Amino acid sequence: MRNVLTIDSVTKYYGRVRALNKVSLTIPAGCIYGILGPNGSGKTTLLGIIMDILKPTSGRYEFYEGETPNHQVRKRIGTLLETPNFYHYLSAERNLRIAAEIKGRGAEQIGEVLSKVNLYERRRSKFSTFSLGMKQRLAIASALLGDPDVLVFDEPVNGLDPEGIAEIRQLIKNLAGEGKTIIMASHLLDEVEKVCSHVAILKKGELLTAGKVDEVLANEDIVEVEARDIARLYEVMQGVNSTLRVYREDNSVILHFEQGAADTEAINKYCFDRNITLTSLILKNKSLESKFLEITK
Ligand code: ADP
Repeated sequence: MRNVLTIDSVTKYYGRVRALNKVSLTIPAGCIYGILGPNGSGKTTLLGIIMDILKPTSGRYEFYEGETPNHQVRKRIGTLLETPNFYHYLSAERNLRIAAEIKGRGAEQIGEVLSKVNLYERRRSKFSTFSLGMKQRLAIASALLGDPDVLVFDEPVNGLDPEGIAEIRQLIKNLAGEGKTIIMASHLLDEVEKVCSHVAILKKGELLTAGKVDEVLANEDIVEVEARDIARLYEVMQGVNSTLRVYREDNSVILHFEQGAADTEAINKYCFDRNITLTSLILKNKSLESKFLEITK
């Protein structure tokens, strides 16, 4: 697959604050690429750099093969970064007409982009009558003017209600289905897991890991066991079959298995045979979450 964007060792300082440290990434065409990290990890800074709004302190990036981010390339990228200034008293349609005029492209696509974001029926309604989710969809419609190949979204579902979130997620998937490449920042693992095909995890400006979601956030079974004597439990647990990792927490021992490989009954019997009575044995399915916590801890 062709690459849309290559980021090579990008570092960004704001005065003495280092927001990004030698971040390198490759974004293949047609993927939904999640930039995942807690607040302050550098996501917005990274998006700002690739949108040419911020200058990196060092490092470089290029769109497609070898094209520097010039005006022509910039036209192939749609973004929600610069929050569009919609007029409250004007209709959705009028607002997009103004947006298209400012961009100098997309005037003939207004009906089409309104349909894509499911606002065609409401095209004559005033912006002020829209829910937050509809406003966000209108912003996406605006980003779609000019038919860009790449869309850059910063926390696209922030502040929306569950219905609004579901609509935006579906819309993002539809856009990827049309062949667009989507780069989105999120601080929610769940979001990235549900929407993205690829993920890069940032922590304090450092890139921790990057790749396909199912590889980076490989699903694992996690079993948490407790017994009165944790030290002995931990020792014995080293011998359980087919664990990927075993580690000790304050009051429990955690065992990781490949997805579907944890056998709680066998673990219970294994302990019983070694004179350990478990006070608790829980099979957890929140493996992605703990993996994220493990990564970002
Ligand atoms: P995120 O989008 O992941 O929340 P940001 O890119 O906004 O992270 O911020 C990364 C780091 O850079 C944070 O420590 C933040 O405080 C700092 N930072 C961001 N913008 C500025 C700025 N304009 N001036 C100084 N520091 C900034």
